[in-house]
Amino acid sequence: MSKASRIPVTSEDPLVVLSGVNKHFGSLHVLRDIDLTVARNEVVVLIGPSGSGKSTLCRTINRLEPIDSGTITIDGRPLPAEGRGLARLRSEVGMVFQSFNLFAHKTVLENLTLAQLKVRKRSKAEAEKKARELLARVGLADQAPKYPAQLSGGQQQRVAIARSLAMDPKVMLFDEPTSALDPEMINEVLEVMRSLAVEGMTMVVVTHEMGFARSAANRVVFMADGRIMESRTPEEFFDNPETDRAKDFLSKIL
Ligand code: ADP
Ligand code: MG
Repeated sequence: MSKASRIPVTSEDPLVVLSGVNKHFGSLHVLRDIDLTVARNEVVVLIGPSGSGKSTLCRTINRLEPIDSGTITIDGRPLPAEGRGLARLRSEVGMVFQSFNLFAHKTVLENLTLAQLKVRKRSKAEAEKKARELLARVGLADQAPKYPAQLSGGQQQRVAIARSLAMDPKVMLFDEPTSALDPEMINEVLEVMRSLAVEGMTMVVVTHEMGFARSAANRVVFMADGRIMESRTPEEFFDNPETDRAKDFLSKIL
């Protein structure tokens, strides 16, 4: 599927805007003057060496981590520091981690309905209908009654994605979603992510899967030492990296 066939991305009215964001862990300055804009329907792939601040950046976008300075807005609204507004905004930002974080003592179906019932206040019938639709979409229609431990890693991660989608997020954040998977399961998860991209989901994806970055990203953002060093199309970035840090990084992984 070519990127050209996707819903067009415009720079007007962006969905996520980080402006002048700084964050420290004690004396460690992990995010330095981060300016990042994610357009509606855009897929941004975030890459960079270990420790460069990619996970922290993702976590600040839904305030799992507070910031020291700067602003973050989602869909035109500033991210509140706490309270009900925060809970609502957070539910609009889906997040999928390396570890699947499913509820081990709930069935797959219950994993998908729980937050719909509690946060979205949907009826049980409505929540289950949505859950079954999403399970079908990630290729797991027949797994609803199982428990997470009965599924493979790739299946569990697809359940985790479906669970996030059940909240109708405006943007999905993926932090190394395939890093904990056996190699033969990576593609089934990337395929689900590709199909989301094609359908126009706005996504920020931290990954080491450079094939995915090339084929699915509108833009590659390269981070090092807490800074954004490059922000360019995948073609520009991979074929002609500008900074020494990016050249060095690519020479080690490609
Ligand atoms: P990446 O995801 O790019 O590997 P991280 O955002 O996880 O980078 O980490 C950036 C830096 O912040 C690293 O030096 C890491 O050790 C440090 N760090 C991350 N989380 C914490 C934390 N909760 N407390 C202290 N230091 C942290
Ligand atoms: Mg990380």
